[in-house]
Amino acid sequence: MNRMQELVDLLNKYNYEYYTLDAPSISDAEYDRLMQELIVLEKKYPDKVLQNSPTQKIGGQIISEFDKVVHNVGMFSLGNVFNEEEILDFDKKIKKIIHNVEYVAELKIDGMGVSLEYKNGILFQASTRGDGTVGEDITHNVKTIKSIPLKLNENVDIVVRGEIYMSKKSFEELNSLRKESGQSLFQNPRNAAAGSVRQLDSSITASRKLDAFLYHYPLTPFKTHYESLEYMKKLGFKVNPNIRLCKNIYEVIDYINKWTELRNTLPYEIDGVVIKVNDVTKYDEIGYTAKVPKWATAYKFPAQLVLTKLKDIIFTVGRTGMITPNAVLEPVKIMGSTVSRATLHNEDYVLNKDIKIGDYVYIKKAGDVIPEVVSVELNRRKDVKDFVMIHKCPICGEYLTKPDGFVDSYCLNEECPARNIEKLIHFVSRDAMNIEGLGERIIEDFYNYGFIKDFSDIYNLKNKKEELIELEGFGNKSVNNILENIENSKNNSMERLLFALGINGIGAKKAKLISKQFSNIEDLSKAQFDELNDIKDIGPILSKSIVEYFRNEDNLNELQKLKDAGVNFSYIGKKIEMDEEYAGKKFVITGSFDFVSRKEIKEFIENKGGYTSESVSKKTNVVIVGKDPGKKYEDAVNLNIPIWNEEVLKSKLGIM
Ligand code: NAD
Repeated sequence: MNRMQELVDLLNKYNYEYYTLDAPSISDAEYDRLMQELIVLEKKYPDKVLQNSPTQKIGGQIISEFDKVVHNVGMFSLGNVFNEEEILDFDKKIKKIIHNVEYVAELKIDGMGVSLEYKNGILFQASTRGDGTVGEDITHNVKTIKSIPLKLNENVDIVVRGEIYMSKKSFEELNSLRKESGQSLFQNPRNAAAGSVRQLDSSITASRKLDAFLYHYPLTPFKTHYESLEYMKKLGFKVNPNIRLCKNIYEVIDYINKWTELRNTLPYEIDGVVIKVNDVTKYDEIGYTAKVPKWATAYKFPAQLVLTKLKDIIFTVGRTGMITPNAVLEPVKIMGSTVSRATLHNEDYVLNKDIKIGDYVYIKKAGDVIPEVVSVELNRRKDVKDFVMIHKCPICGEYLTKPDGFVDSYCLNEECPARNIEKLIHFVSRDAMNIEGLGERIIEDFYNYGFIKDFSDIYNLKNKKEELIELEGFGNKSVNNILENIENSKNNSMERLLFALGINGIGAKKAKLISKQFSNIEDLSKAQFDELNDIKDIGPILSKSIVEYFRNEDNLNELQKLKDAGVNFSYIGKKIEMDEEYAGKKFVITGSFDFVSRKEIKEFIENKGGYTSESVSKKTNVVIVGKDPGKKYEDAVNLNIPIWNEEVLKSKLGIM
């Protein structure tokens, strides 16, 4: 069977890329499809099953740098079900052994499995799943994860299993930092988590903000899985709050339907729901295959991927001069919006994924993230054209540079209009100087008409008021509005200006951290490398980038002009105006809002002396509920906590 051999070879190659290199080259959905094809063939021809078939063993391998750990109890993978029919089929098989079966339904956290061994209540060893029998010792790294207790609430000897994961937010921050410093990007939070845990230097792991949920107590003395989870919570482990005890398979299906709807509201990625028989005493009787237990299975969500044709590849120039290849797509609907462009990141990305013009490609869009091309459907390839990287800037024609160790190419021409426009757009953007009314199109027009070239020109626009009013689409009122917003932005606290300047590696968060330390731009401009490098979370690359920025004469001249224009250079910090309705009170936000960002709600509450939290408890004072709320809404109702709906929130914010 040629196809069987071909599938085994392909899947083994993908396993290596996924588990050992943490860099998959195809989507999970495609991998699952190929795996299903192999399973069907192996069922049909059981005597032809190849010894090295990936259906017979767990995919992970051991890298030699880590010490090996032998698992006393095997660490299993899970079987998969993809639709209701298969779920009911799973239930039917279980019912042959247990008549009134109860299940525990859990979110399938998209991270990396971990085994934790405690001796006398103290964390002794942490290991990866590896091939299920032998894993890697990652104790030094796991100790940096704050949600994994180093000491339990009882002095017990225990082994527990769970999932290390990276929140969507930390993943996006990590990738944007990597992008700015020219490193390759992680494809998803799961690969990022796995790559972060398997580091030889634990300070790198510590900087990656990992988290963990624990969900399994292999040698439990309890009769049910649910009781084990309760006990694990008591010991101090973080157990996922959305786990549900279900009386029958239909309650499991309800749970799956609910989380299929709500998965995007979670701060971490899930790729399905795990269904486990609650009665642990029956596990041996139900049994195991070589790879998976038969008393549990994983329902996998349908992929949030769509297939479309890649018609062309065009290049854009970012504010740092970074060149990004972009896919021009046959327009396609995904998660409610039509997508006709998607990022291809850089030359290496396109070549590694073997993407060609004319291919059918899978597109992914998650939350606010720019849509990206994930992989190619090779089965549909015909009449394609090779991708060719450009060597000159598509806007100014300057030869591009690819610095050593970087994966991106750059246009280094300081006068390149594309770079300058992007810099200006960034300067006025929401998290930077937040100048409303100066949208991307207007910046582009003002630049092309010669009204603005540098940041400081924005503050001189008031001298050109008459000319602006004459422009098509503008009038007295709109120009006055823009000018007023420009004036107001002069009072921004230092962190906004620092972020707005677009210094390599300084995102909004780092800008705040640095501003708190240095209080004003002048002091920061005199800071030495060591002084910066000593600050937690800054690091040598960013320190170098800051020092270089303030050594550059042009930058210093520009800063002087901003200062002369009256732009504030000092850190003002949070101005708290205590308000009794908020002061000292705990707010929880759930769901989404299209008239305000979560960050703004949080800031509003904090500025009045309140604070926000991620979970609802009896101590919560108010739960703010937007569209598609999560479990927090149910909790609020159950605990009788006052709820502010969108209308109430609007009135509190003063939005009519
Ligand atoms: P899996 O990820 O499908 O499921 C098993 C794992 O789920 C467990 O080992 C555990 O770590 C995790 N898990 C998360 N939440 C859990 C919970 N509440 N209870 C129990 N376990 C939980 O299996 P796998 O063997 O780790 O990986 C196989 C999958 O990985 C494939 O189906 C595919 O989607 C993906 N994969 C992709 C590629 C690729 O190239 N894209 C290659 C190999 C594997």
